Amino acid sequence: MSATADTGTTRVALVTGANKGIGRAVAHRLAELGGCVYLGARSEVRGRAAESELRSEGLDVRFLSLDVTDESSVIQAAKRIEEEEGRLDALVNNAGIGGPPLPPSSTPLSEIRRTYETNVFGVIAVTNAMLPLLRRSQAGRIVNMSSVLGSLTHAAAQEDPTGVFPAGIFPALLDYNTSKAALNAVTITYANELRDTKILVNAVSPGFVATDINGHRGVLTPRQGARIPVLLATLAEDGPTATFVGEDDTPEGQRLSW
Ligand code: NAP
Repeated sequence: MSATADTGTTRVALVTGANKGIGRAVAHRLAELGGCVYLGARSEVRGRAAESELRSEGLDVRFLSLDVTDESSVIQAAKRIEEEEGRLDALVNNAGIGGPPLPPSSTPLSEIRRTYETNVFGVIAVTNAMLPLLRRSQAGRIVNMSSVLGSLTHAAAQEDPTGVFPAGIFPALLDYNTSKAALNAVTITYANELRDTKILVNAVSPGFVATDINGHRGVLTPRQGARIPVLLATLAEDGPTATFVGEDDTPEGQRLSW
């Protein structure tokens, strides 16, 4: 799996939920590689703060108001990219949430719905809105920020190939895990629809990254967690589609089972 060093190919990128954490680090890296990066954020204050930090390094980063659960915000975001750039080369569906860690049998349905709104339906809404722009790219790439917790194979075996959780321990988070399993299915479904186009669609498990989502218990920095998402966002023409790639410190990452 090789990445394009040619930043002319992956020039225009959108990262959702990019005001902090892994999304911010992905936006940062893609901009360092020479891209024009739309930094999607639902809060103007938080989005502008991240934008100005990255711009102070001379990077072409543009705050884009985008709440992935708000259809009109998604449509407005696509309109702005169309007006300014006319196309999109890479979409990183990063925005994600998880509810409080409760046993499945006592997780309120409202929590599950809330998580799915962002992690699944939000991704579908943004992908559908951006696809006309991605189709105009010479090398459209879609990267869905999943998690090894969404792997049905590894959940059933209670075994984490990424080594974060010891054998026999696999967190059973009903809202989060099943939303990422659904996201994995969404990834394969789009990849299959788009097989005869130049658009490659893949899912990533970024590793256990210290961010707000896990109370900073992760062991990787956001920049380390951004490595595989950036690799998938800048894949060369002969790169894979419909794969699930995890961080394991090897150059290409590890292929995970769905
Ligand atoms: P994070 O620091 O909590 O960042 C999550 C980002 O998503 C924030 O920018 C947040 O914005 C944004 N967001 C949430 N709901 C949104 C919405 N409706 N519209 C737009 N943006 C929204 O967590 P993270 O660890 O960087 O997570 C990024 C992605 O990686 C998630 O999909 C997560 O599931 C995945 N992931 C993380 C880990 C890990 O170890 N950290 C492991 C596997 C997968 P606000 O600031 O406005 O809340």
